[in-house]
Amino acid sequence: MSKLLDVTDLKKHFPIRGGFFGGVTGQVYAVDGVSFHIDKGETLSLVGESGCGKSTVGKAILRLFGITDGQVVLDGQRIDDMSAGTLRPVRRRMQVVFQDPFTSLNPRMRVKDILAEPIRNFGLAKNSADLDEKVAKLMDTVRLPRDAVGRWPHEFSGGQRQRIGIARALAAEPDLIICDEAVSALDVSVKAQIVNLLQDLQAELGLALLFISHDLAIVEHMTHRVAVMYLGKIVEVAPKRSLFAAPKHPYTEALLSAVPVPMPGAARQRVILRGDVPSPINPPKGCRFHTRCPYAFDRCRVEEPLLRAIPTALEAGHTAACHLHDRPEAENPLAIAKGQ
Ligand code: SF4
Ligand code: MG
Repeated sequence: MSKLLDVTDLKKHFPIRGGFFGGVTGQVYAVDGVSFHIDKGETLSLVGESGCGKSTVGKAILRLFGITDGQVVLDGQRIDDMSAGTLRPVRRRMQVVFQDPFTSLNPRMRVKDILAEPIRNFGLAKNSADLDEKVAKLMDTVRLPRDAVGRWPHEFSGGQRQRIGIARALAAEPDLIICDEAVSALDVSVKAQIVNLLQDLQAELGLALLFISHDLAIVEHMTHRVAVMYLGKIVEVAPKRSLFAAPKHPYTEALLSAVPVPMPGAARQRVILRGDVPSPINPPKGCRFHTRCPYAFDRCRVEEPLLRAIPTALEAGHTAACHLHDRPEAENPLAIAKGQ
């Protein structure tokens, strides 16, 4: 497979203003050196608790704001330093579906106008008949009736509105769709339908997806690979099976232990983390997870672990940032898959 998106050492720091003169008094290290790639036609899920920086990564890729440092490459072309003028064709290739289908659609626009807008903006229709045909086909693609195009957003259910949101993203004929908690606000049964739709569309259209989510049960159902974020950094990246069967970072192990397992008796041993997530204004030195890690040792408090390939992983392409993997296997609780 060839790379579609390549993100290298991405940083986004937000200044904190305060004091009498309103000067900069600190920084929020929201995203602090994140690297990953997405292949053409692949789903990569970016997971982690709220506030870990995953939405900021999505917005930075979409160029909704400038980045502090790093590099973003789309299909061989660097896009993080492009001017607004040259960015237009790039914007077409990357679309987004947001969490809330109730606020992300303009209530004063009929569905046909919502879908026609990107087609027109990017000059994708030859004439008005072609435009109408494209809009009708988008309705087919997201499994909504063609004759509903004259209706208003409020006339649809939450799941239907999210289908319209997906159709609007598809209208631009993108290569990548960033789904930022795109199914989180929906009821369980509707969630499954939308996830299945996204999977079908990916197969039909060869789309790549960056699926930002805190819901690991959904992620396990639909992703190819997973990247786990904690406090502005990626701590583990792996193919799905390798990550879910044998995580190599203690934070991932704790996240997975909280996911309900459908088979009785197959439950993972619950790992309870102590304390709260520290502030991204003043992240802990060394390993950022050391204040909560059940396995932390002296080195973790002083030296930052780097993402690297883990030889004991189930599958190739499994990387984690944890000093445990320098220890002899007998002293590494994550060396082998538990229960295997
Ligand atoms: Fe835990 Fe240390 Fe690994 Fe960080 S480096 S996850 S503190 S064992
Ligand atoms: Mg978010």
